[in-house]
Amino acid sequence: MDLPRRMPDFPLPDTEWAPGRGFFEAAARSELAIPRCAACQRLVWYPKPACPDCGGRALPWAPVSGRGALFSWATVRRPLWKPFAEKVPYTTGLVALEEDPRVRLVSLLADCAPEELHADMAVHAVFRPLAFADSDRALVVPFFAPTR
Ligand SMILES: [Zn+2]
Repeated sequence: MDLPRRMPDFPLPDTEWAPGRGFFEAAARSELAIPRCAACQRLVWYPKPACPDCGGRALPWAPVSGRGALFSWATVRRPLWKPFAEKVPYTTGLVALEEDPRVRLVSLLADCAPEELHADMAVHAVFRPLAFADSDRALVVPFFAPTR
């Protein structure tokens, strides 16, 4: 597996890093995709060179529903780092996917106040541009919003 390389657009994610490229290609189509083992169908996240259950090495990106449950979260009210100063308060969540709760994705939470959040809250992926004031690039990524 490739090692992460220098990220020229940091704090935007590196969309060209081979193991994660499929994630961002799907997000650009407003789809959430996770590598799925072709042999045993297990979702494998974070991307790995082989399936941890069966050792299969064919792990094509497969669309998933984007539905999940809020596993944990943290709200940042005081920016510790300049690029995020314009975004406070913001909440980063860990979301367990409906298809396999072992798959937990980290992303920003959208369309909710921190006070609304609770464990196991139903959420779904929404696709929004991620941008920072110091960069002229934006990238569509999945955030998670409460399912009401
Ligand atoms: Zn497998």
